[in-house]
Amino acid sequence: MSQAELTPPANVERQNWTEITPEALYNKLQTIAGNLWWCWRPEVGNLFRELDPVRWRQLDHNPKALLAEMTPQQVAERANELAMYTRINQAHRRLTEYLTDTRHTWGAREAGVLGSKPVAYFSAEFGMHESVPIYSGGLGVLSGDHIKSASGLGVPLVAIGLFYDQGYFKQHLDGEGYQQEDYIDTNVATLPIKPALDPQGKSITVSVETRGGSLLAKVWLVNVGRVKLYLLDCDVDGNSPQDRELTSRLYGGDTRTRIRQEMVLGIGGVKALRALGITPGVYHLNEGHSGFAPLEVIRLRMQDDGLSFEDALREVAQHTCFTTHTPVPAGHDRFSADLIEEHLGPTREKIGISHDQLMGLGRVEPQNHEETFCMTVIGLKLSRHANAVSSLHGHISRRMWANLWPWRVEEEVPIGHITNGVHVPTWLALPMRQLYDRYLGVNWARKMYDPDQWQKVYDVDKGELWETHHALKSRCLDFVRRRLSRQCRRRSEDESAVDAARMSLDPGALTIGFARRFATYKRADLFLSRIDELAELINKSDRPVQFVFAGKAHPADMPGKKLIQRIANLRNDPRFAGRVVFVEDYDMNVTRHMIQGVDVWLNNPRRPLEASGTSGMKVVLNGGLNCSILDGWWGEAYNGKNGFAIGNGTQHVDSKITDERDGDLLFEVLRDEVVPCFYDRDADGLPHRWIDMMVDSIATLAARFSAHRMVQDYVKMCYLPAAGGLSAEMKKG
Ligand SMILES: *Cc1c(COP(=O)(O)O)cnc(C)c1O
Repeated sequence: MSQAELTPPANVERQNWTEITPEALYNKLQTIAGNLWWCWRPEVGNLFRELDPVRWRQLDHNPKALLAEMTPQQVAERANELAMYTRINQAHRRLTEYLTDTRHTWGAREAGVLGSKPVAYFSAEFGMHESVPIYSGGLGVLSGDHIKSASGLGVPLVAIGLFYDQGYFKQHLDGEGYQQEDYIDTNVATLPIKPALDPQGKSITVSVETRGGSLLAKVWLVNVGRVKLYLLDCDVDGNSPQDRELTSRLYGGDTRTRIRQEMVLGIGGVKALRALGITPGVYHLNEGHSGFAPLEVIRLRMQDDGLSFEDALREVAQHTCFTTHTPVPAGHDRFSADLIEEHLGPTREKIGISHDQLMGLGRVEPQNHEETFCMTVIGLKLSRHANAVSSLHGHISRRMWANLWPWRVEEEVPIGHITNGVHVPTWLALPMRQLYDRYLGVNWARKMYDPDQWQKVYDVDKGELWETHHALKSRCLDFVRRRLSRQCRRRSEDESAVDAARMSLDPGALTIGFARRFATYKRADLFLSRIDELAELINKSDRPVQFVFAGKAHPADMPGKKLIQRIANLRNDPRFAGRVVFVEDYDMNVTRHMIQGVDVWLNNPRRPLEASGTSGMKVVLNGGLNCSILDGWWGEAYNGKNGFAIGNGTQHVDSKITDERDGDLLFEVLRDEVVPCFYDRDADGLPHRWIDMMVDSIATLAARFSAHRMVQDYVKMCYLPAAGGLSAEMKKG
């Protein structure tokens, strides 16, 4: 929907605003703020921004927090001044229509059978917007994008997660450039969540039994467009003080905390659905964290339908899909036999299996007592539809888990792949959307998964595309400078440092972005492997290059924190000051600014450890170019002219040698390809080769790496077969 569509004739405006009281207007805004639908409609988010731009920014773009600070009269006055009445009414009406008109969606046509028995999508984190801090990184944002696209497509789906009242941490760097973590309690009153209610209208608390007593969790509801997201929260009366904090932090605590969280997510999640009166036809476990869920479903089938354990297991597995995201064995959750018995003991007794039998479900070799209980293994054993998240990751996963199917050759291991995608409306900048509206037609978003319509970007005027990109780049750099000067102030540096931060970065310079978790395999410091030559490259007066970094290291990851420190402290080196900058407190807001504004997105993980990666897909939509190792999604996306490849998709058995070689290759591609292509201007001042590459990138990748395409693939390859109880195997390749 473009801005133009939101501006009806003047007579409508007059008519509406005389009829509506301040309270009614305020309530409409509250309704809009109560459904995360607004966060992928920039023109709706702008309504809140316009009410008070400064507070909007200070409040992390949280509309409920903003409204809590204003009276209906104040809102009405502002709306009057800014002639916003019509837009507010329109936005409210659009939301209502969106929620009620579900008959004409793709899902109604293609996934109608899921209607009364929806998909239950389990994930340990959901990243939907910076104001709802229950995510840490890519996995969470992927889950958020998945449910947003399910909403857009009208696929019947409910989601289950955990409510972390302190979320992940907020990051700042100390005087030495070392990461410090701050945990802040979120204020439930200013989040778009409310208690979930059972069919009798009562709030819900579920109880999960362990040997040491029961764990209680209350259930919250978040509306994400048409999708309902239920979050379990252990901070309730009746839990021990320790257990009340069980869900306070994402990925905090030891393995004991971890298994208890995963009990609540998996077993508590199934109990919550039952209490809500929802009978899912399909269970989708997004990563191993929710791997206990099928055990509880098995227990219910045995109790309700009198099935034997074996029959219940077979049936439940046929209705269960499992997605693995982790290509390293060490990245999978593992629990000792003691922890398993303490926590799953009561459940396994109810389903009548021995401790050894249960342990066997989490082991590659069931009888091997040396083996700990692995959540990915139970996920694979209790599902008949399993997938990795890129083509390459599919190969890696089949090899990694081949021992689970010793009678099969590797290619026949039943783990397929569905490559990740991103929710286009969330990540697309408004000016780019308006450009697509003009060239692709105003209804393009309805078919954003259709590669054919994206061919029309070849018609886009090059100058217009370049100018749009430039406007976004300026916005990004303004944001970065503002953050940098704030960082200086917080460290009580003198005014000259604040000024330097404010003056840093050159809008004309080739700008390379890198923002993601600082896990060491992502090798954020790879660009420093030839540091003197890099300094020279960066400082060429006619062809300058600058880097913007952001990202958090896990609080327990010292090497990750050292990486951050090394990069952040480059500001003390005159060769890099103002040219290599680090933005603190990476979150979805920082991502959005960066992926919408940089020229090049750098991605250089140690192959093949990046299962997919998604941040580069967000860049494509906004006209940025990827420069990446041929790992994860880029291994199948790169076609020789839609971006840049570092190396040719091989690695050495010795990772040290790989790192050295990749460092050289990165430097070479920057020096020999990226920089010349960017600075090669025609008489009109435009970098034509570069712009052609932008267009190729959008035309070949936007549809394929959209979350709409991804969710459609899940529907066709997993959900529909699973709903029918078929154990169809996904095509591999
Ligand atoms: C998209 C996104 C990611 C994913 O980044 P990768 O490069 O795929 O690791 C991580 N964190 C946030 C906040 C994101 O928005």
